[in-house]
Amino acid sequence: MECDVVVIGCGPAGSSFARIAAQQGLEVVVVDKRKEIGVPVRCGEALGVSEPAKEGLSIPKYAISLEVEGAKLISPSGHAVYWKGEETRGYVLERKFFDKWLGELAAQKGAKIMAYTHAVDIIKEGGKVVGVKASHGGREPFEIRAKVIVSAEGMEALIARKMGFKSYHPLHEVDTCYEYEMAPYEHENVIELYFGNKIAPRGYVWIFPKANKKANVGIGIGGNVINAKKWGGTEGADPKKLLDEFIEKNEQLREASTFLDFGGVISVGEPLKELVRDNCMVIGTAAKQVDPIHGGGIALAMEAGVMAANYAEEAVKKGPSALKKYEKEWWERKGQQLKRRHLLRKVMERLGDDDLDYIFQQLNHEALLNIMNNNFAPVAMKVIAGRPSLLKVLGALMG
Ligand SMILES: Cc1cc2nc3c(=O)[nH]c(=O)nc-3n(C[C@H](O)[C@H](O)[C@H](O)COP(=O)(O)OP(=O)(O)OC[C@H]3O[C@@H](n4cnc5c(N)ncnc54)[C@H](O)[C@@H]3O)c2cc1C
Repeated sequence: MECDVVVIGCGPAGSSFARIAAQQGLEVVVVDKRKEIGVPVRCGEALGVSEPAKEGLSIPKYAISLEVEGAKLISPSGHAVYWKGEETRGYVLERKFFDKWLGELAAQKGAKIMAYTHAVDIIKEGGKVVGVKASHGGREPFEIRAKVIVSAEGMEALIARKMGFKSYHPLHEVDTCYEYEMAPYEHENVIELYFGNKIAPRGYVWIFPKANKKANVGIGIGGNVINAKKWGGTEGADPKKLLDEFIEKNEQLREASTFLDFGGVISVGEPLKELVRDNCMVIGTAAKQVDPIHGGGIALAMEAGVMAANYAEEAVKKGPSALKKYEKEWWERKGQQLKRRHLLRKVMERLGDDDLDYIFQQLNHEALLNIMNNNFAPVAMKVIAGRPSLLKVLGALMG
């Protein structure tokens, strides 16, 4: 096959890229190794309501399970902080429909999506990447030659690494996750986030309510937490085990049924500095474009896909140097923000349960809004004023 752009991966990043690039009249081929786009789901499925509108999209009803008003944050000792407002409204999606819908939008613009097609290698000629080898359903690989090659592969990022990107994930830069879809669960129309080193060392437990009294109940813990005992938990640092312990202690969930059961890994490190190498690009989670605080990456993947695609036509017509504009723009608009959030994560990892409890008592709507907007100094100052021993840890957030 020959085309202008080949995209590897039809998640939110790849399909967003393909939609915009195809709209510009480019010949776009998207390969995804999954038999069915969007399936199996490995996600908590939460997305802010304002996110799709930024891309001029309106999510169809069938891809939204529930709209929630905000969040309930629960400290290690059980103190709950409610956060509800216009900024906190969110969707809990049905990603199996959402991802497929995004792919369909790209196909309607003219992109060719090929499910069950695994990119297994790059094709290099004269030191330049000129395409990928892909296998449909395990058959003999065939060639897809393209002027621009885009990795939107998510965590695996095999092709990205072959293209020379640093898309590998050391253990301290990932959260290992486990999740169940459960029912019945009576909820308060908010997402629930439970913190504490005994509950989820270097991470949190989430309950994201869905329609029909269902809920995604999951956990993410630091990938380098090898011994949960050290953090006050029981033996091992097995996210499933810790999640099962949490569920056992929850009156509602203890009695609930499970409908989906899976593990996963998500990047919580700093995003890749280099997003473009000659005619090759990396977008979405493959580029570690994920929020290091909560591990959310759907919106960031869509945004990066659109941003990168805006330079695809110029690159195809005039040469690949145009692609570097994506790297520059992404780092200016999003990268610096994520770097700040990575700093906050590093600071949070050093806090004990007692300190976390104290900090939760200081949180109100304004403080949470400031944190969301990366303005950490006011809340850090307030906490340090009441607990000066935290100056050493929280001082890093004052700048
Ligand atoms: C347990 C868990 C819970 C999460 N919860 C949330 C949440 O609630 N909200 C949120 O915003 N984010 C969440 N995330 C993160 C979110 O799922 C990702 O950030 C998001 O899916 C990134 O989109 P993407 O398009 O970059 O990659 P992906 O969605 O991972 O898509 C990559 C695609 O590439 C395909 N692929 C990979 N390699 C190849 C290859 N060699 N050949 C062909 N195809 C290939 C895959 O099959 C896949 O379809 C969660 C992640 C995990 C693990």
